[in-house]
Amino acid sequence: MIRSLLKKIKPTLVKLRIFSVLYFIYFFVAKLKNRFLNRINKVTRKTVPVLLYHRVDKVLNDPIKLVVSPETFEEHIKYINKVYEPISLSELVNRIKNKSLKGNEACVTFDDGYRDNLINALPILEKYNTPATIFITTSEIGKRASFAWDMKYKEDDRAIFLSLEEIKILANNKLIEIGAHTHNHVRLSDFSKDKQLSEIETSKKILEDIINKKILHFAYPFGGRYDFDDNSKFLIKELGFISAYENTGLLGTSSSDIFSFPRINIRGCNVESLSKHLYN
Ligand SMILES: [Zn+2]
Repeated sequence: MIRSLLKKIKPTLVKLRIFSVLYFIYFFVAKLKNRFLNRINKVTRKTVPVLLYHRVDKVLNDPIKLVVSPETFEEHIKYINKVYEPISLSELVNRIKNKSLKGNEACVTFDDGYRDNLINALPILEKYNTPATIFITTSEIGKRASFAWDMKYKEDDRAIFLSLEEIKILANNKLIEIGAHTHNHVRLSDFSKDKQLSEIETSKKILEDIINKKILHFAYPFGGRYDFDDNSKFLIKELGFISAYENTGLLGTSSSDIFSFPRINIRGCNVESLSKHLYN
């Protein structure tokens, strides 16, 4: 209800330049709340950070901080292996179900399905024997990246998405799990239940046909609290997924909902900043 009211009054607020101020305040308060919750959770329960990456590549300009350089990514993975036990998402689900989470685990995930995940990230994951899940937007398979955020990059820095053959190579690697991320990278909460079903089911089916394995994990596009709803969660369960992930900057805990498990979006920061980001 608050969301539809905000949508209605947004043009007026933008005109009055109030929207950017309100957005800044909302963002600041949300960040403070996350920091508080993460600190409390870190000392009162077993936590697990699920890291969210997008691209691992070298670019000349990174206007929206979607890219981590291969060198920085290697530093991150080295750090993760030193401080945590990196586990796959399937193992995370097992430990949460069996109540056997130790509190020293971490998971690595990638969203959207960029080709550099295979070319640049996989060799580093293999070097450190680190499992990871790659969530793929199926309408973009094999294409030049052209989402609004991709178009902010200069021509030479724009990415390519994984092809069918490349997805197969990744899926056959024992360290990699493939997950679904809808067909068209839509904000699910904007759609009816039927349209949501089509987006989620299509992506699952296309990926299962490519890799010949069940797709068990799902990441909500955009991943904020209001980017999916109860219908999305219901459908995820109905379609046989065993877990689903948001992007809210929170540490996961043994009592987090496995169908809206939090992740922390990782930018191209050094290890000291990563450590702070993960509340160590
Ligand atoms: Zn995405």
